Amino acid sequence: MTDIMIPAIEEARAEIASLSLRTRLFIGGEFREAASGRRYVTENPASGRPIAEVAEGGPADVDAAVAVARRAADDGRWSRRNPGDRKRILVRWANLIESNARELGLIETIDAGKPITDTVGLDMPETAACIRWHAEAADKTYGQVAPSPEGTVATIVREPVGVVGAVIPWNYPAQMAAWKLGPALATGNTVVIKPASTTSLSLLRIAELGTEAGIPDGVLNVVTGPGDTVGEAIGRHPDLDAVAFTGSTEVGRRFLHYAAETNLKRVLLELGGKSPQLVFPDVTDFETIAANVAIAVFWNMGENCSAGSRLIVHRSVKDRLLQAVAAELAAWRVGDPLDPATRIGALISRGHMERVLHYIEVGRSEGARVVTGGSRILEETGGYFVPPTIFDGVRNDMRIAQEEIFGPVLSVIEFEAEAEAVAIANDTPYGLAASLYTQDLNVAHRVARDLRAGVIGVNAYSEGDMTTPFGGYKLSGFGGHDKSLHAHDQYTETKTIWIQLAAR
Ligand code: NAD
Repeated sequence: MTDIMIPAIEEARAEIASLSLRTRLFIGGEFREAASGRRYVTENPASGRPIAEVAEGGPADVDAAVAVARRAADDGRWSRRNPGDRKRILVRWANLIESNARELGLIETIDAGKPITDTVGLDMPETAACIRWHAEAADKTYGQVAPSPEGTVATIVREPVGVVGAVIPWNYPAQMAAWKLGPALATGNTVVIKPASTTSLSLLRIAELGTEAGIPDGVLNVVTGPGDTVGEAIGRHPDLDAVAFTGSTEVGRRFLHYAAETNLKRVLLELGGKSPQLVFPDVTDFETIAANVAIAVFWNMGENCSAGSRLIVHRSVKDRLLQAVAAELAAWRVGDPLDPATRIGALISRGHMERVLHYIEVGRSEGARVVTGGSRILEETGGYFVPPTIFDGVRNDMRIAQEEIFGPVLSVIEFEAEAEAVAIANDTPYGLAASLYTQDLNVAHRVARDLRAGVIGVNAYSEGDMTTPFGGYKLSGFGGHDKSLHAHDQYTETKTIWIQLAAR
């Protein structure tokens, strides 16, 4: 949390009424309509009512944005700039995002249904921190000198890949953009990025702040519009050197086809998950664990790729833990995302809510037992609200334990022995994250190594911080990592320069 003031609900409403929303494509440092002139409506998921019309880009707009970004890459206005200058400009941008966190957070809350305490208090400060972290690294990353034979000098240098395409999801619109833009821009690339069509508004304003910070025109371009036109055009574009995607496994796969069928651009995929939380029988601090379990699965309405949606708990402590989770949930208010007391806002869209409710029906029909939640609430608001829902008596082969629901639904599965717990945890096509709770150091180390996932939290639900890489095993990821200096790898090429010296 930060010291940025979260507005009271009346203040928030008044500030929203006076927002001036950016709704057009951002190309070459300017806002413009889509080539087709088309627009689409973006709505507030907490009311189902329209907020604004956003330019509906298409392949022609992607072409225009890539052409501008290519010119900016080729003339070196960013890539050949002194790295210290790039750092200063990006740090200024991070500072602007932070100083505008309240406006950006309000935009995110009405566009994505996320609670205001999260958007203003966490998402925007984290977005700024991410940009700042990568910016600071811009002039602190060195190449290498190889141990080449006498009479030669061999340097290994990293260069920007060139023009990067990015396609991102709606669950953390600003943060997911920052995870791509921070490392891609810090390493000297130019970028064409597409936000999810349901959540374009914060990124358009963030891009405008980039120009104010001094990012040269053409370096950062935003094309809004649907995935199957704009997203595919980015995936297939022959003049993009890399594409970074965060979203579902299903769509992620397509990017490998797009690249294979066009120019073999580099592909980075951050995908879905079905992450386990393992609780061993020696735990004692049920309150703390319950708080972590609730955050892991219900934070951001469960619309979280690393959501701990399977609670794999030892039979001897299950009842006690579920009581503690129930007590913890008493403080989790579901409702108007503009209310600072709200912990759970609205799901992103009617379609997504129906998908989550369908999974709840599937869980019931598979024989699992709903112990809390289980149906839509606050329907009179017009918003898409589903409360925390817990299924007990789940078997790991049930669909609700295997498929990503991406909503506030927890499946509780019992175990008896450590090996069984690990086997259940690994028995999923995904491998993004996992957490485990024990007081036994041996169990902690053993199980952390045995789990097939990219991020393991021990005695905490954690995705690490900006210093640690984030990426998935199995169907959860491909081609690299977000965050940390590891993220710089996929936005840079490795070049060998072999120099033959004249004989003495
Ligand atoms: P999605 O795959 O439907 O969409 C992601 C992006 O891809 C959007 O911008 C969308 O417009 C675009 N897209 C859709 N169809 C496309 C197509 N045919 N070609 C090209 N682009 C297309 O995912 P979503 O519903 O926005 O987000 C939820 C998913 O994202 C979940 O599976 C979640 O786990 C995953 N996610 C993963 C991470 C991570 O870091 N691993 C982080 C956040 C979300």
